[in-house]
Amino acid sequence: MHQFDLCALAARLPPRPLTRFAPSPTGYLHLGHAANAVWVWGLARALGGRVLLRLEDHDRSRCRRAYEAALLEDLEWLGLEPDIGAVAEFRSGASPLRQSDSGSEYAVALERLGAGVFVCDCSRKDVTGEAGDVVNQETRYPGRCRDRGLEPAPGRGLRLRMEPGAERFVDARLGSQEQHPAEQSGDLLLRDRLGQWTYQFAVAVDDLRHGVDLIVRGEDLLGSTGRQIRLGRLLGRPALPAFVHHPLIRNPGGGKLSKSRGDTGIRELRAAGAAPAEVLGRAAWLTGLQAEPDPLRPDDLAKLFAGS
Ligand code: GLU
Repeated sequence: MHQFDLCALAARLPPRPLTRFAPSPTGYLHLGHAANAVWVWGLARALGGRVLLRLEDHDRSRCRRAYEAALLEDLEWLGLEPDIGAVAEFRSGASPLRQSDSGSEYAVALERLGAGVFVCDCSRKDVTGEAGDVVNQETRYPGRCRDRGLEPAPGRGLRLRMEPGAERFVDARLGSQEQHPAEQSGDLLLRDRLGQWTYQFAVAVDDLRHGVDLIVRGEDLLGSTGRQIRLGRLLGRPALPAFVHHPLIRNPGGGKLSKSRGDTGIRELRAAGAAPAEVLGRAAWLTGLQAEPDPLRPDDLAKLFAGS
């Protein structure tokens, strides 16, 4: 099944390109994660590249160590081995590939953003209430604290001025894209009022410091890419990474998969007797990579992309 021009993508990448699988341990692994993993490992292997495993636990209120442990176990069960960030390394303690262990890196990156950063004491209500505009279901920060000159203090966050202008990039599957971060989100939240680094900032810092060449993730994150490109440039990233935003999983009938029916949880599928290759094959099928839910072993994933 042809998704895009693999050769054109390869031509924009260095030899042995690095991509990443970057789940957030906010729950158990489900078929959506497996689908993302199939794309990540499949493309990495088809391109002769490598996979880095990163644990995106920046949101301390939603992440749990128990979810992390379960996630690592499910990944091992699926037979998906990262080339960088082995499961055993995460189990043995702190890791530069775990966001909650990387606070000092984010603090250094923050310094690099310089004068565009300002302190903000807006609550969520200040931003989502009448003051904030809603653009494409996203809330745009109305700029309330931009020129207030607030000092950093507990209970205050940090934002980055987003100057107007377009960010353009080519998605290997979806083609040319143009996004306007200042219109989408306004000044970007880097650290929230609880002192937690935000997804957009942590991801941009990590993709840069980990040397990620190729970002493979679901279409639901397409709208974030312009902001992350902007951040990467301001942080001194010399060249853009390549991007593939893949389809999200669907029911064969077209409807949404329901977690409550237990048809998407990897743990549930395991408990019901499914084999790892059946889960990978089903994930590939649900995301349009094969016409039937034929079982797939990790070594088979590259062939989903060969000839495309
Ligand atoms: N941690 C994000 C998630 O689990 C993925 C972020 C990304 O791929 O950029 O949805």
